[in-house]
Amino acid sequence: SNDVPLPDHTRVFTVSNQKGGVGKTTTTVNMAAAFAKAGARVLVIDLDPQGNASTALGVPHSADVPSVYDVLIDDFPLSDVIQQSPENEMLFCAPSTIHLAGAEIELVSQVAREHRLRTALEAFLESADETWHYVFIDCPPSLGLLTINAFVAAREVFIPIQCEYYALEGLSQLLGSIELIQKHLNPSLALTTILLTMFDGRTNLANQVADDVRAHFTDRVLQTVIPRAVRISEAPSFGQTVITYDPAGVGAVSYLEAAAEIARRESTSHQDKEARA
Ligand code: ADP
Ligand code: MG
Repeated sequence: SNDVPLPDHTRVFTVSNQKGGVGKTTTTVNMAAAFAKAGARVLVIDLDPQGNASTALGVPHSADVPSVYDVLIDDFPLSDVIQQSPENEMLFCAPSTIHLAGAEIELVSQVAREHRLRTALEAFLESADETWHYVFIDCPPSLGLLTINAFVAAREVFIPIQCEYYALEGLSQLLGSIELIQKHLNPSLALTTILLTMFDGRTNLANQVADDVRAHFTDRVLQTVIPRAVRISEAPSFGQTVITYDPAGVGAVSYLEAAAEIARRESTSHQDKEARA
């Protein structure tokens, strides 16, 4: 639809925050499903050994399933491990399995250990028959080699921030890591998108956190906020995103709005560039 223009190149996001339980996986799968519903072809790469993104997308990821582990460690092409989500024919997942838990250690002795995901993703996108509009990489809650692979493979960093704790605290480590990656491994990486999530507007703390984050990160913070909503947390146990599980609810509506905002900002910045040229 016109609300959500498709990008003219593949936008690769890594959804990162070294804290656990802040909404990385929930953000990844629901943003991906929102873009797929809007007609984009979307790939989720599940880099968390827990495999929560694979579960939420309804994609099998038992130990015998080919997974991101095989891509990182055994040079499988990404196309060999990608599965279509039963939820939407435009939504796909490269699943994680339990084997990925060992990859953090196994990667240490690999050649070009920080670049393995990037190399696989570039080869996949270059040889693909279809245009892939969005790739979302769901990261584990640590700054180890799996997360570094995500930072090297991505162009855009997407940080979900939970509005319940003092959110800026702890973010400095993440920002420092992004700077190091930019300097040494991926100069194209940019923190483009911050999404306030699990927002409860009735509490002063949530509003104060939101104000602090907006003051600090200005236009990188989406106007759309994801509210705390029970349906959002229930959806994964049905192997679904909230976009399918509760399509008219506040969760789905706010993720679809966030997707529209991300898509519009990109096309606006293109127009700005054209206008300046
Ligand atoms: P992370 O991937 O950063 O560890 P998750 O996405 O798994 O975080 O979210 C942590 C918990 O919070 C999960 O139980 C999830 O269902 C719940 N959750 C995430 N976003 C919301 C929300 N907007 N409303 C209610 N619960 C949420
Ligand atoms: Mg997670």
